[in-house]
This record gives sequence, C-alpha cells and structure tokens, in this order.
Amino acid sequence: MENLPFSLQRVNERIETTCQAQGLVKPHLIAVSKTQPAHQIQTLFHAGQRDFGENYLQEAEEKIQALSSLQGICWHFIGPLQSNKAKAVANQFEWVHTIDRFKLAQKLNQHRGETNLGRLQVLIQVNIDGESSKSGVAPEDILPLAQKIIALPNLALRGLMAIPARRDKLNEQREPFAKVWSQFKQLQNQLPDTPLDTLSMGMSADLEAAILEGSTMVRIGTDLFGTRLQK
Ligand SMILES: *Cc1c(COP(=O)(O)O)cnc(C)c1O
Repeated sequence: MENLPFSLQRVNERIETTCQAQGLVKPHLIAVSKTQPAHQIQTLFHAGQRDFGENYLQEAEEKIQALSSLQGICWHFIGPLQSNKAKAVANQFEWVHTIDRFKLAQKLNQHRGETNLGRLQVLIQVNIDGESSKSGVAPEDILPLAQKIIALPNLALRGLMAIPARRDKLNEQREPFAKVWSQFKQLQNQLPDTPLDTLSMGMSADLEAAILEGSTMVRIGTDLFGTRLQK
C-alpha cells in the first residue's frame, strides 16, 4: 500500500493540472472512504483532506463515531439510500448526493428538523445514461423534483450528481458530463432564486473529463486509497 499523503498530493496535482490548462476553478475533492478503515481516513485528514464520502450507512456510522474528535471533518453520503435510514443519515451527515425521489427528501427534511444541525445539503442524482442498473432521475424529472425539494425548510438543494456509464476514452467520457452540465445550467435558469452551485461528478477513472465539463466536486476512492477490499 503506498503512502496516503502522497496519493492525496498526486490526485490534487491531477486536479490542478487539468484546471490550470483551461483556467478552470478547482473542484472540491471528496475522498471516497467506503471499505477503508478509520485510521486511513485519519491519516488523510492529517494530510489536509476534510471531505469524505461513504456509501454504506452501517459502516459509515462506526467510522463517524470513531473519528468524531476530528474538528472540521465533513461527511457526504453518496450511496443509494432507503427511506428507513433517512433519520440516521440526517443526524450524521452534512451532505447527501443521492436524492432520487421526493419521499426520501421529505424524510430527510423531517429528521433534520429534529436536530440543531442546520440545513442538510442535498444533490439530485441524475441517471444521465438512462441505465436501468443505476439510480437517479431522468433529466425531465429533475425540475419537478427540485421544485418540491426547495420548499422543504431543512434541506438546501445545491445541485446535481451523476455517475455515467463507464467509457474509456477522454472524449467519450466528456459527453455524458456535458449533458449533466447543461441540465445543471437549465435548472439554474429555471430556479433563479435558489443558489445552485454544485455539480458532483468525476471518479478515479474519469476525473479529468468531469472537470473539463464543469465539475465542482469530484469523488475519488481508488486513486487515493488503492483498490478496495471486497465488501
Ligand atoms: C465508489 C464511488 C466513488 C469512487 O470511485 P473510484 O472509482 O474508486 O474513485 C465515487 N462515487 C460513488 C457514488 C461511489 O460509489
């Protein structure tokens, strides 16, 4: 296993190089720590990383507990979420990237209202390639869902998230990200009173393509921590 601070530096350099070439603003880096033990997260935290993404609630809860003394650590829920887990997520996370139905948003809103944590930051997940295996709403369903979410007092809708189908070449990878970006711009125009500033897209294999198409948050696991152990 190579040295984590070094991997972090290398990923940050990839991000910087891509941005500099095009004069783009650097996206936030979310370190995707699913299947990784708490001590690895702690090591990255001490190397300066603050945002961490988790997919599985039970696993995440243990780590959030264990690392609760790290001031300023920010937890993002990035996996599919069942409504019956909304309370635990609303209590322990600052962000949820995977809102794909109103019922889930309502539950998160309700339970966030029972805390004194302020608004939960949320993104609508878009199924940009129309894959039956992936969650997320179809592009035409973004606006109706967004309109209902912005009426909820304990959620702050910040933008969109997407996980396109795997493609190998940079130019092919850019296409679905460009589509997500235009959905994002359209939504910003449709909801001028809502400050939508976040586009969560890009993983280890396609972070450059996502940045070139306007990503503001990249979610990186493998290229930081190495290959994941089997879940
Ligand atoms: C696992 C995961 C990632 C990180 O993927 P890598 O290819 O390991 O960088 C990003 N986003 C989501 C939603 C994930 O589930």
